[in-house]
Amino acid sequence: MAATIIDGKKISQEILAELKLKIKKLKEKPGLAIVLVGDNAASKIYVSSKEKACKEAGLYCEMHKLADSATEAELLGIVEKLNQKNSIHGILVQLPLPKHINEKLILDSILPHKDVDGFTPINIGNLACENTILAPATPRAVMRLLESTGIQIEGSNAVVVGRSRIVGKPVALMLLEKNATVTICHSKTKNLEEHTKKADILVAAVGKAEFITKSMVKKGAVVIDVGINRTAGGIKGDVDFENVREIASFITPVPKGVGPMTIAMLIDNVIKAMEINRTVNNQKFN
Ligand code: NDP
Repeated sequence: MAATIIDGKKISQEILAELKLKIKKLKEKPGLAIVLVGDNAASKIYVSSKEKACKEAGLYCEMHKLADSATEAELLGIVEKLNQKNSIHGILVQLPLPKHINEKLILDSILPHKDVDGFTPINIGNLACENTILAPATPRAVMRLLESTGIQIEGSNAVVVGRSRIVGKPVALMLLEKNATVTICHSKTKNLEEHTKKADILVAAVGKAEFITKSMVKKGAVVIDVGINRTAGGIKGDVDFENVREIASFITPVPKGVGPMTIAMLIDNVIKAMEINRTVNNQKFN
């Protein structure tokens, strides 16, 4: 029997409706600043869909667009101003940044309690210490979608393909926290298929269209596809959806899977950040 498709769009719309109500009841509007540098076509699309969803949910949202030629110092200056601005509770610097800018330096300059992407070392560190404060939105989306299936994560074999700071590693930490036995695979992994075949839960965050094929998947596995790859045939995930769905028990589609849920989790993070901003104002965040 073909897999049940996890409808990320529908589940995220339900969450967004709840968040909208929550925001309406707040005395202050949670504020998000989005910083976009350069002309990357995909980034422009992501950023405008995030801005639209944030505004629809009732957040205050301001956009800072910089030319491709912007310097590291200019960008650091903007982040610093946003760090100090009281009406801004969350700062999101859209990745990737142009090559001449040190991405790590910029991300690390965001105050941890305004880091709604959850990428700063303090937030990743807190996640690793099971003291999660602001966790990255995409890994949170993966977990929410997994939870929506009702499957038991505890004791399952979870395999994450990809170990990036923004997706693979934090997803693996979150699965571990839920007591899965976690294997992380990457480009130097030998015999990848041997690992993926053992997965009860398989998370693909590789960035290669239809990289995970049917022969790599165990019958009945739950498959979460994080990938967004632009191909001549349209947007494709990292999983060969049509064939893998024949043997998986649950599978996320691309689009309408992890993507919309990521936006819902981002908005949730901005609300969380506002609450944290209140309590940590002028205090040390650690
Ligand atoms: P990265 O390019 O940063 O990381 C890709 C990972 O895949 C790396 O760890 C890399 O290994 C691994 N990898 C590459 N080739 C292989 C291979 N042949 N075998 C096994 N592992 C391999 O990508 P991201 O983590 O940023 O993103 C992954 C995908 O998710 C992309 O398609 C991206 O567009 C998408 N994405 C989607 C989001 C959403 O909201 N849905 C949000 C963020 C990303 P190594 O470390 O050894 O190089």
